[in-house]
Amino acid sequence: MTTSVSIPADDVAIRRAVIETARAMNRLGINVNKSGNVSARVVSEGECGMLVTPTGVPYDELVPEDLVFVPFGDEPSLKRARGRRAPSSEWEMHERIYAVRPDAGAVVHTHSCFATALACQNLPIPAFHYMVAAAGGTSVDVVPYATFGTPELARAAAEGVREKDAALLEHHGVIALGRTLERALRLAHEVENLARQYVTVRQLGEPRLIDDEEMRRIVAKFRTYGQPQASKEA
Ligand SMILES: [Zn+2]
Repeated sequence: MTTSVSIPADDVAIRRAVIETARAMNRLGINVNKSGNVSARVVSEGECGMLVTPTGVPYDELVPEDLVFVPFGDEPSLKRARGRRAPSSEWEMHERIYAVRPDAGAVVHTHSCFATALACQNLPIPAFHYMVAAAGGTSVDVVPYATFGTPELARAAAEGVREKDAALLEHHGVIALGRTLERALRLAHEVENLARQYVTVRQLGEPRLIDDEEMRRIVAKFRTYGQPQASKEA
Protein backbone atom coordinates (compact mmCIF):
# COMPACT_ATOMS: atom_id res chain seq x y z
CA MET A 1 0.00 0.00 0.00
CA THR A 2 1.54 3.27 -1.08
CA THR A 3 0.57 6.51 0.59
CA SER A 4 0.27 9.85 -1.13
CA VAL A 5 -1.82 12.97 -0.94
CA SER A 6 -4.22 11.40 -3.41
CA ILE A 7 -5.40 8.62 -1.08
CA PRO A 8 -8.92 9.34 0.20
CA ALA A 9 -9.47 9.21 3.98
CA ASP A 10 -12.52 6.96 3.58
CA ASP A 11 -10.56 4.40 1.53
CA VAL A 12 -10.95 1.12 3.44
CA ALA A 13 -7.67 -0.23 2.01
CA ILE A 14 -5.57 2.59 3.51
CA ARG A 15 -7.43 2.28 6.81
CA ARG A 16 -6.72 -1.44 6.87
CA ALA A 17 -3.06 -0.80 5.99
CA VAL A 18 -2.69 1.61 8.94
CA ILE A 19 -4.20 -1.02 11.27
CA GLU A 20 -1.98 -3.74 9.79
CA THR A 21 1.07 -1.55 10.36
CA ALA A 22 0.08 -1.05 14.00
CA ARG A 23 -0.41 -4.81 14.45
CA ALA A 24 2.89 -5.51 12.71
CA MET A 25 4.64 -3.41 15.38
CA ASN A 26 3.39 -5.94 17.94
CA ARG A 27 4.50 -8.89 15.81
CA LEU A 28 7.95 -7.37 15.36
CA GLY A 29 8.26 -6.80 19.10
CA ILE A 30 8.68 -3.03 18.79
CA ASN A 31 5.48 -2.10 20.60
CA VAL A 32 4.22 -2.78 24.11
CA ASN A 33 0.55 -2.36 25.01
CA LYS A 34 -0.80 0.81 23.36
CA SER A 35 2.30 2.98 23.55
CA GLY A 36 2.92 3.17 19.79
CA ASN A 37 0.91 4.95 17.12
CA VAL A 38 0.72 5.09 13.34
CA SER A 39 -0.54 7.60 10.77
CA ALA A 40 -0.80 7.99 7.00
CA ARG A 41 -1.22 11.09 4.84
CA VAL A 42 -4.61 11.23 3.08
CA VAL A 43 -7.19 13.65 1.68
CA SER A 44 -10.89 14.02 2.43
CA GLU A 45 -13.20 16.17 0.32
CA GLY A 46 -10.29 18.28 -0.87
CA GLU A 47 -8.77 18.66 2.61
CA CYS A 48 -5.24 17.36 3.20
CA GLY A 49 -4.76 15.55 6.48
CA MET A 50 -3.86 12.28 8.12
CA LEU A 51 -5.47 9.12 9.37
CA VAL A 52 -4.15 8.33 12.84
CA THR A 53 -4.69 5.44 15.24
CA PRO A 54 -7.07 6.24 18.12
CA THR A 55 -6.10 6.42 21.77
CA GLY A 56 -6.98 3.61 24.14
CA VAL A 57 -7.96 0.85 21.69
CA PRO A 58 -5.79 -2.32 21.50
CA TYR A 59 -4.53 -2.87 17.96
CA ASP A 60 -6.15 -6.30 17.74
CA GLU A 61 -9.55 -4.72 18.30
CA LEU A 62 -9.15 -1.89 15.78
CA VAL A 63 -11.57 -1.71 12.85
CA PRO A 64 -11.28 0.75 9.92
CA GLU A 65 -13.93 3.11 11.37
CA ASP A 66 -11.83 3.58 14.54
CA LEU A 67 -9.14 5.57 12.72
CA VAL A 68 -9.40 9.34 13.10
CA PHE A 69 -9.09 11.79 10.21
CA VAL A 70 -7.30 14.96 11.31
CA PRO A 71 -7.26 17.69 8.62
CA PHE A 72 -4.10 19.81 8.50
CA GLY A 73 -4.30 23.50 9.32
CA ASP A 74 -1.94 26.43 9.91
CA GLU A 75 -2.05 25.45 13.58
CA PRO A 76 -2.90 21.88 14.63
CA SER A 77 -6.40 21.67 16.14
CA LEU A 78 -8.44 18.74 17.34
CA LYS A 79 -11.62 20.70 16.61
CA ARG A 80 -11.23 19.63 12.99
CA ALA A 81 -10.76 15.91 13.78
CA ARG A 82 -13.39 13.58 12.38
CA GLY A 83 -14.13 10.11 13.68
CA ARG A 84 -15.91 8.22 16.41
CA ARG A 85 -12.75 7.92 18.53
CA ALA A 86 -10.25 10.38 19.99
CA PRO A 87 -6.92 10.32 18.13
CA SER A 88 -3.65 9.14 19.66
CA SER A 89 -2.35 11.53 22.32
CA GLU A 90 0.62 12.15 19.98
CA TRP A 91 -1.56 13.27 17.02
CA GLU A 92 0.06 16.72 16.99
CA MET A 93 3.54 15.18 16.71
CA HIS A 94 2.38 13.32 13.60
CA GLU A 95 0.77 16.45 12.11
CA ARG A 96 3.85 18.63 12.65
CA ILE A 97 6.08 15.97 11.10
CA TYR A 98 3.97 15.96 7.90
CA ALA A 99 4.22 19.76 7.86
CA VAL A 100 8.03 19.77 7.81
CA ARG A 101 8.31 16.67 5.60
CA PRO A 102 6.05 16.99 2.56
CA ASP A 103 7.65 13.79 1.22
CA ALA A 104 6.41 11.73 4.20
CA GLY A 105 3.44 9.47 3.51
CA ALA A 106 3.46 7.70 6.88
CA VAL A 107 4.78 8.12 10.43
CA VAL A 108 5.38 5.39 13.02
CA HIS A 109 6.04 6.01 16.73
CA THR A 110 7.14 3.31 19.20
CA HIS A 111 8.73 2.82 22.62
CA SER A 112 10.83 -0.09 21.34
CA CYS A 113 13.17 -1.36 24.06
CA PHE A 114 16.77 -0.77 22.93
CA ALA A 115 16.14 2.46 21.04
CA THR A 116 14.26 3.82 24.06
CA ALA A 117 17.07 2.72 26.39
CA LEU A 118 19.54 4.80 24.35
CA ALA A 119 17.08 7.71 24.28
CA CYS A 120 16.77 7.58 28.08
CA GLN A 121 20.55 7.93 28.38
CA ASN A 122 20.60 10.68 25.72
CA LEU A 123 22.85 8.50 23.57
CA PRO A 124 22.53 9.02 19.79
CA ILE A 125 23.32 6.07 17.51
CA PRO A 126 26.59 6.97 15.75
CA ALA A 127 27.99 5.53 12.50
CA PHE A 128 29.10 2.21 14.04
CA HIS A 129 27.31 0.30 11.23
CA TYR A 130 26.57 1.35 7.66
CA MET A 131 22.82 0.71 8.11
CA VAL A 132 22.65 3.84 10.30
CA ALA A 133 22.47 5.63 6.93
CA ALA A 134 19.04 4.03 6.38
CA ALA A 135 17.70 6.82 8.60
CA GLY A 136 19.01 9.37 6.09
CA GLY A 137 22.12 10.65 7.87
CA THR A 138 25.37 9.74 9.57
CA SER A 139 23.72 9.20 12.98
CA VAL A 140 20.31 8.78 14.61
CA ASP A 141 20.04 11.70 17.01
CA VAL A 142 18.13 12.37 20.25
CA VAL A 143 15.36 14.99 20.38
CA PRO A 144 15.40 16.90 23.74
CA TYR A 145 12.82 15.80 26.30
CA ALA A 146 9.32 17.29 26.46
CA THR A 147 6.15 15.97 28.13
CA PHE A 148 4.26 13.38 26.07
CA GLY A 149 1.26 14.61 24.11
CA THR A 150 2.29 18.29 24.22
CA PRO A 151 2.85 20.85 21.45
CA GLU A 152 6.42 21.20 22.79
CA LEU A 153 7.16 17.54 22.08
CA ALA A 154 5.41 17.78 18.70
CA ARG A 155 7.59 20.74 17.65
CA ALA A 156 10.82 19.17 18.95
CA ALA A 157 10.09 15.84 17.24
CA ALA A 158 9.29 17.52 13.92
CA GLU A 159 12.55 19.48 14.13
CA GLY A 160 14.36 16.18 14.78
CA VAL A 161 13.19 14.63 11.51
CA ARG A 162 13.45 17.73 9.32
CA GLU A 163 16.72 16.44 7.82
CA LYS A 164 16.56 12.73 8.76
CA ASP A 165 13.92 10.02 8.58
CA ALA A 166 14.15 8.82 12.20
CA ALA A 167 14.98 10.20 15.64
CA LEU A 168 15.10 9.09 19.26
CA LEU A 169 12.93 11.02 21.74
CA GLU A 170 14.71 11.57 25.06
CA HIS A 171 13.16 9.57 27.95
CA HIS A 172 10.43 8.46 25.55
CA GLY A 173 10.93 6.43 22.34
CA VAL A 174 11.37 6.60 18.57
CA ILE A 175 9.79 8.21 15.54
CA ALA A 176 10.32 7.05 11.97
CA LEU A 177 8.80 8.22 8.71
CA GLY A 178 8.68 7.03 5.13
CA ARG A 179 7.00 7.54 1.79
CA THR A 180 4.83 4.51 2.59
CA LEU A 181 3.59 2.72 5.69
CA GLU A 182 5.90 -0.21 4.91
CA ARG A 183 8.94 2.07 4.73
CA ALA A 184 8.11 3.88 7.97
CA LEU A 185 7.56 0.56 9.77
CA ARG A 186 10.73 -0.95 8.28
CA LEU A 187 12.78 2.03 9.46
CA ALA A 188 11.32 1.91 13.00
CA HIS A 189 12.26 -1.79 13.09
CA GLU A 190 15.73 -1.06 11.69
CA VAL A 191 16.37 1.65 14.31
CA GLU A 192 15.49 -0.83 17.05
CA ASN A 193 17.81 -3.42 15.48
CA LEU A 194 20.64 -0.87 15.22
CA ALA A 195 20.06 0.20 18.83
CA ARG A 196 20.34 -3.41 20.00
CA GLN A 197 23.52 -3.91 17.99
CA TYR A 198 24.96 -0.63 19.27
CA VAL A 199 24.29 -1.54 22.90
CA THR A 200 26.04 -4.88 22.26
CA VAL A 201 29.01 -3.24 20.53
CA ARG A 202 29.46 -0.84 23.44
CA GLN A 203 29.81 -3.85 25.74
CA LEU A 204 32.85 -4.93 23.71
CA GLY A 205 34.62 -1.61 24.24
CA GLU A 206 34.72 1.83 22.66
CA PRO A 207 32.78 1.51 19.37
CA ARG A 208 34.79 1.96 16.18
CA LEU A 209 33.02 4.29 13.76
CA ILE A 210 32.82 4.56 9.97
CA ASP A 211 34.39 7.85 8.85
CA ASP A 212 32.19 10.76 7.69
CA GLU A 213 33.20 10.59 4.06
CA GLU A 214 32.27 6.91 3.78
CA MET A 215 28.96 7.49 5.61
CA ARG A 216 28.05 10.36 3.30
CA ARG A 217 28.75 8.04 0.36
CA ILE A 218 26.42 5.39 1.85
CA VAL A 219 23.67 7.94 2.56
CA ALA A 220 23.88 9.04 -1.09
CA LYS A 221 23.86 5.41 -2.25
CA PHE A 222 20.69 4.70 -0.22
CA ARG A 223 19.02 7.80 -1.66
CA THR A 224 19.90 6.78 -5.20
CA TYR A 225 19.28 3.06 -5.06
CA GLY A 226 16.94 2.66 -2.10
CA GLN A 227 17.79 0.57 0.91
CA PRO A 228 19.64 -2.70 0.47
CA GLN A 229 17.59 -5.88 0.24
CA ALA A 230 18.40 -7.01 3.76
CA SER A 231 16.52 -4.07 5.24
CA LYS A 232 13.38 -4.84 3.24
CA GLU A 233 12.63 -7.98 5.18
CA ALA A 234 10.48 -6.22 7.79
ZN1 LIG B 1 5.11 7.67 22.95
